[in-house]
Amino acid sequence: MSEINRTQIEEIVRRVLYTINNKPGAGEKDFSSTSYKGRALIGIFSDMNDAIEQVSQSYKAVRAMSVEQRERIICAIRELTRKEAQAMAELGVLETGMGKVEHKRLKHLLVADKTPGTEDLVSHAKTGDHGLTLVEMAPYGVIGSITPSTNPSETVICNSIGMVAAGNSVVFNPHPNAVATSNYAVDLVNRASKLAGGPDILVASMDKPTLESAAVMQSHPDIKLLVCTGGPGVVKAVLASGKKAICAGAGNPPVIVDDTADIKKAAKDIIDGCTFDNNLPCIAEKEVFALRAIKGELIREMQKQGAYLINSAQAERLASIVLVDVADKKTGKTKKTLNRECVGRDAGALLSKIGVNAGGDIRCIICETGFDHPFVQEELMMPILPIVEVADIDEAIELAVKAEHGFRHSAHMHSKNIDNLTRFAIAVETTIFVKNAPSYAGIGFNAEGHTTFTIAGPTGEGITSARSFTRQRRCVMADSFRII
Ligand code: NAD
Repeated sequence: MSEINRTQIEEIVRRVLYTINNKPGAGEKDFSSTSYKGRALIGIFSDMNDAIEQVSQSYKAVRAMSVEQRERIICAIRELTRKEAQAMAELGVLETGMGKVEHKRLKHLLVADKTPGTEDLVSHAKTGDHGLTLVEMAPYGVIGSITPSTNPSETVICNSIGMVAAGNSVVFNPHPNAVATSNYAVDLVNRASKLAGGPDILVASMDKPTLESAAVMQSHPDIKLLVCTGGPGVVKAVLASGKKAICAGAGNPPVIVDDTADIKKAAKDIIDGCTFDNNLPCIAEKEVFALRAIKGELIREMQKQGAYLINSAQAERLASIVLVDVADKKTGKTKKTLNRECVGRDAGALLSKIGVNAGGDIRCIICETGFDHPFVQEELMMPILPIVEVADIDEAIELAVKAEHGFRHSAHMHSKNIDNLTRFAIAVETTIFVKNAPSYAGIGFNAEGHTTFTIAGPTGEGITSARSFTRQRRCVMADSFRII
């Protein structure tokens, strides 16, 4: 029998106390990376090697399943996600302090309803004088997935559906600041697996994910594919691993409003998209380029939608709070870095940091800035939206492309001029380009198309789905098997 470790002893004591008192102790949270309301989470390990060994067994079980059985597990994941969307939304906000419960609930429902399952896998056949060649989408095997703090449980569930649909198993190394929420989702997937007759542990995660456990994952011979979702640091690390990788990186989505747009609708769409989950989604509007002719009207319409306009002195004060100077370890040079205490916070809470009490209905802080302002250049992930005035569409496109920093992630535009829309779409080269709608239309929310929370710009898979997590295999039957 294997030895019991300190974490496990602490967990057992905690659960016994919880059961006796039927509630968490004073000052104690009723969730952790290994338990939720006294219930132990399934599939959580202290050692990455053990987790990988477990999911290697799970992969064997998945490989032995029919596609129909895999689909049954996916249906069960969808059902539990719908049922527990509210609980995960509340936990996500409670643990990370970021985002909005109602929006997180909607994000979970989106994942449950619009993440493709096994129907996404399509085989191709080529027939001709020399017989039949068949190409099928095969699993990689065990996938190592690194997930973010901004959509923690959404990403775990979305990736699990797509990866399992494709016949893989997964081990996660989630963001340490969102480990309890991520592991709740890992447990949900495992509960769904068991309910649908699959393995007890289909996917796994870490009780204390670290850069070291990520490094073990990245170099482990049994991990055949790495999938990471996060900022530039993790993308760089995963691409340097030498393994096949799918990387979903940072964005800084600009939005252009030209003088042909329906300004009232543009203002509403932009504020709706920008404030969704307090601007945490990587696709959310981060800076606006407005033509001079309509800028004033756009700002007035945004104010009607719950935006609060601050002046340039207030913007400077806010910038000095939400962005802090941190010295680079290698060069010693200082660099503007996000104040994590401000990421994903409510607009009212951010305003109060500069002494403004604007009431509870404020959804977004807007301000007019120049192009070089850090609010334009940095990916804030807060409901703060800078507006840059431009003379014409040429200047709008030039600056918006620069503000996107070549991430090729997302960009948006409000216009009725087809030429302008087309010019910007071609120039910006983003994975997602939304016309005349809130940014979240780009991931299928109130719009056509499937959803994902892993938008792989750097490696080119785009809006990932089950087929992204497959490798192609070819089978050739020479000179035979044709029916014509
Ligand atoms: P983050 O980059 O801080 O963390 C993401 C994950 O990477 C975490 O699990 C973290 O622990 C891990 N990580 C960071 N550096 C690492 C390294 N050197 N080696 C191994 N693992 C490492 O991101 P976050 O704050 O959680 O999320 C926000 C960022 O992610 C934003 O930049 C956002 O644009 C991006 N994001 C992109 C997508 C997408 O689909 N493209 C989706 C969500 C978030």
